[in-house]
Amino acid sequence: MILSSIKQTLIDFIFPPHCLVCGKETESENICEDCKRKIKFMEYPLIEHDGRKFFYSITYYEGVMEKIIKKMKFYRLKSLSKDLSNMISNFIYKENISFDAIGYVPMTRKELLERKFNQTYLIAKEISKMYNKPLIKGLKKIKTTRKQVGLSKKEREENLKNVFTIEEKIKGNILLIDDVYTTGSTARELVKSVYRKTEGNIIFIAVSRKMN
Ligand SMILES: [Zn+2]
Repeated sequence: MILSSIKQTLIDFIFPPHCLVCGKETESENICEDCKRKIKFMEYPLIEHDGRKFFYSITYYEGVMEKIIKKMKFYRLKSLSKDLSNMISNFIYKENISFDAIGYVPMTRKELLERKFNQTYLIAKEISKMYNKPLIKGLKKIKTTRKQVGLSKKEREENLKNVFTIEEKIKGNILLIDDVYTTGSTARELVKSVYRKTEGNIIFIAVSRKMN
């Protein structure tokens, strides 16, 4: 323990921590205070509410937020998942959202091999630890889909139709996590697959929303 903290101090001395967004030197965090201040939060985070289904997004997908998510996904800066899970955790606390289990947007094996990791799993795993609620592991994506980027809303819906299934028993309120909400096709399909399996509420939260 002591040795590892000495090692960390030494690493910090030789390679002082830098903001992963703008590159400026920081105390120890991934994202500096200046960048954090530039994140634009939604005035009205509730996108849609329909019976037991709730769809939220916390921030706008632009500027600093877009950089954070792109760095995590495409430069594989996995530690940023902690910052994103903190954002969701603060939101859950503020909105007084109660949930019994947590799910994420699953990937097929092929997609996982390509991306190397599932960023929504990393975020969900952190929240699962923070709130001591189980992760739903039986949520599966059963076919590899085309990339959603560049597709119209209708094409996105067709592309994702019935691709998510759930292979385990679930009950109670279910929290579902995603990084970016665009047209809502992923959100709606995922919520649909979980909706049939529980009597509780389904609360979908995307960290950010891309406005068209
Ligand atoms: Zn910064």
